[in-house]
Amino acid sequence: MATQNPVFIPGPTNLPDRLRHAMDMQTIDHRAPDFERQFLPLLDDLKQVFGTATGEVLLFPATGTGGWETAITNTLSPGDTVLAARHGMFSHRWIELCRQQGINIQKIETDWGDGVPANAFAEALAEDHEHRIKAVLACHNETATGVTSDIGAVRSAIDAVDHPAMLFVDGVSSIASMDFRMDDWGVDVAVTGAQKGFMLMPGLAILAFSKRALAATETATCTRAYFDVPAMRAANRAGSFPYTPPTGLIRGLSESASMLLEEGLDQVYARHHHIAEGVRRAVDAWGLRLCANRPELYSDTVTAICVPSGFDASQLTSHAYARYGVSYGGGLGDVAGKVFRIGHLGDMTEVMALTGIATAEMAMADLGYPIQRGSGVAAAQRFYGMDSGDNAQEVA
Ligand SMILES: *Cc1c(COP(=O)(O)O)cnc(C)c1O
Repeated sequence: MATQNPVFIPGPTNLPDRLRHAMDMQTIDHRAPDFERQFLPLLDDLKQVFGTATGEVLLFPATGTGGWETAITNTLSPGDTVLAARHGMFSHRWIELCRQQGINIQKIETDWGDGVPANAFAEALAEDHEHRIKAVLACHNETATGVTSDIGAVRSAIDAVDHPAMLFVDGVSSIASMDFRMDDWGVDVAVTGAQKGFMLMPGLAILAFSKRALAATETATCTRAYFDVPAMRAANRAGSFPYTPPTGLIRGLSESASMLLEEGLDQVYARHHHIAEGVRRAVDAWGLRLCANRPELYSDTVTAICVPSGFDASQLTSHAYARYGVSYGGGLGDVAGKVFRIGHLGDMTEVMALTGIATAEMAMADLGYPIQRGSGVAAAQRFYGMDSGDNAQEVA
């Protein structure tokens, strides 16, 4: 079967040709000055994407999971407590990683479909008179449920009770696709990876640390070796890495940051919203529900769709792949079998989104879902097409 179909998983995303070409390169000497000339400006570009003027960006060869570990082990000590909500597979996994590091978790169980519970956080922090909670963890975009949370509200909850806890944010499936404001939201560590909004293949954990989080690295005693932030900063200051950097991916990331900044971050976010809204119109036309509980939680990078009762979402994603060669995200953890996900982040055009909607529709019809063939496509066409007034835009 031809394998040229776009993927509709929420990362890794489709690779823009411009990035593939940028990474088609000969070996470079990472100790030669050329590397430094490429690498140092990249860190400044990335600060813009994270929305920080005062934070520092760090890259590690890893994925988002390595980014979580970097955040925790560099700032906390075994026996420290973090406050976290479990409302999807990614927030769940970050909590489990903390546990493996010997961190105590004050966990708030939240419906899978809800966002980070800023009010419940405020109550927990208000009761923590001894300031045992050292950090609050928040998953900005819970990729398992298609839920985007209000990180500014979490910061307000911390500040409202004058609690000194740091704020650590998983922005793996939001940063570079959705508005992210590290400084405005008082984020102390923000984590992402190469293979989501940056549209690259997997292999880089990309983090930003605030001054406070950097100061915490001096006293944190969790075991860390490969992901040691002070060693990385010292090497970066000299324009290099503590070990051999993935030069191809770093070249790709430089190009990716240029693409994002040339387009303009606001336009990047508006484009994601536009593509996502077309997908949501299609879901509505199918008569299906989103996993996200309320419109203000709807994610612009991934849409998690509840399948009707009696249907198994895993069968749907298997069928779509086996018959049509198209990948969608399956349900993870508590929502396994109950939802399938259409990833629509990164380099996704209206035309690509329409093929994803059409193929999902066809696969559902094959399996006897009570949906009308063409209904979702027509709803998305009405939204993307010229008849919808303010959405009419020329592709030059
Ligand atoms: C993809 C993702 C991760 C990281 O997963 P990796 O497979 O380690 O890159 C973490 N959090 C969220 C919200 C994600 O979407």
